[in-house]
Amino acid sequence: MKENVEQRIERVIEEYVEHLNPGLASLLKFLGFDTVESQAEGVFVWDVRGEKYLDCLGGFGVFTLGHRHPRVVAAVQAQLARQPMSSRVLFNEVQAELAALLAEVTPGNLQYSFFCNSGAEAVEGALKLARLYTGKPGLVAAEGAFHGKTLGALSVSGREKYKEPFRPLLPGVKHVPFGEVEALAQAIDEETGAVILEPIQGEAGVIIPPEDYWPQVRELCDAHGVLLIADEVQTGLGRTGKMFGVEHSGAVPDIMTLAKALGGGVMPLAAFSATAQVWEAMIPNPLLHSSTWGGNPLACAAGLAALRTTLEEDLPRRAAILGEMFLTRLRALQERYPEVVTEVRGRGLMIGIEFREEDLAGLTIAGLAQRRVLAAYTLNNPTVIRLQPPLIITEAQADQALTAFEEAVAQAVELVRELD
Ligand code: PLP
Repeated sequence: MKENVEQRIERVIEEYVEHLNPGLASLLKFLGFDTVESQAEGVFVWDVRGEKYLDCLGGFGVFTLGHRHPRVVAAVQAQLARQPMSSRVLFNEVQAELAALLAEVTPGNLQYSFFCNSGAEAVEGALKLARLYTGKPGLVAAEGAFHGKTLGALSVSGREKYKEPFRPLLPGVKHVPFGEVEALAQAIDEETGAVILEPIQGEAGVIIPPEDYWPQVRELCDAHGVLLIADEVQTGLGRTGKMFGVEHSGAVPDIMTLAKALGGGVMPLAAFSATAQVWEAMIPNPLLHSSTWGGNPLACAAGLAALRTTLEEDLPRRAAILGEMFLTRLRALQERYPEVVTEVRGRGLMIGIEFREEDLAGLTIAGLAQRRVLAAYTLNNPTVIRLQPPLIITEAQADQALTAFEEAVAQAVELVRELD
């Protein structure tokens, strides 16, 4: 007998429990996401019941262009029909074009790029390049940072809970408070090869550093012959209201990592890019760093279409304008519930709402799910709900999301009152 929709949902969740990740299955159910996705378009995701969700999580920052943006889908379809994967020995045009476009648009015109498949891989490449160029193994990173979960990227990340079970990690890594240039100055020594920072910390809870932080970090790195790596995996490509997060400060990194939005929400694609001077170290041995899937034509076709669309439609500006709308409404909400919402932070459409307690944030996420809005907390700080909707969200859709958020907070407060 053919299974009905509810049986299908039950089966998929059971398969998660039996074959994928039982803990994650419990967490998703607790947060109210006890359904199975089936399709997506623009700012919406549909489940197998036919319920339509407004995506304010944006795949943790992947969907700046929304789901299945027609220009990205068309580019990928055309590439699929021609040549999805590379021969690896003949020159590939889309990969070359994408690297050239990145050199044109990145701050400081980072001339060389290496393409890979995930943010963590891009960070690994950036760390290797820094060590290769400087010959120095030491790294300084920020507390609360998130750079991915492979061993090197995990070493520079900031949350002990994810690192502790895997020690020993990379030696010579120091962590300093984010936004405090003095602490960074103290940490840099003759062994330090690179400083790695997010322009705005994402998973730490959307933390914006002081205005002069990045320029001062740049100066400090120059004074000590240390490379500056900007991890733009989450902030890159318009999310914060500028094409790149570092552009808010004018500081120019030596190495930049990109991922998430780079694949246009259609393909996995990541990159690390650097100045010609730094890349010089890679040139003598062209296969010193390599990846079978890295720079594949399908992903690069998506990347080219995504970058061009972001630039031509001036989506960073759109993010800046809509971000103000979100921040204004959310700050008004904070004034209404100062004992519940302790801070509202953000730039562009990278927004964090800090709650007094993790449980209140969890209840609000569940309330949003009931109202068919997708959101989640930040990975290194579960008291913060992050809103990262597609940059193509309309004002009316933003209003819908904000109304749902206001209602969900009111409901969470009511629930907690009843329990007290
Ligand atoms: N760097 C930053 C700033 C991130 O936010 C993330 C993921 O959230 C990563 C690196 C790791 O990316 P991935 O999950 O693709 O490995």
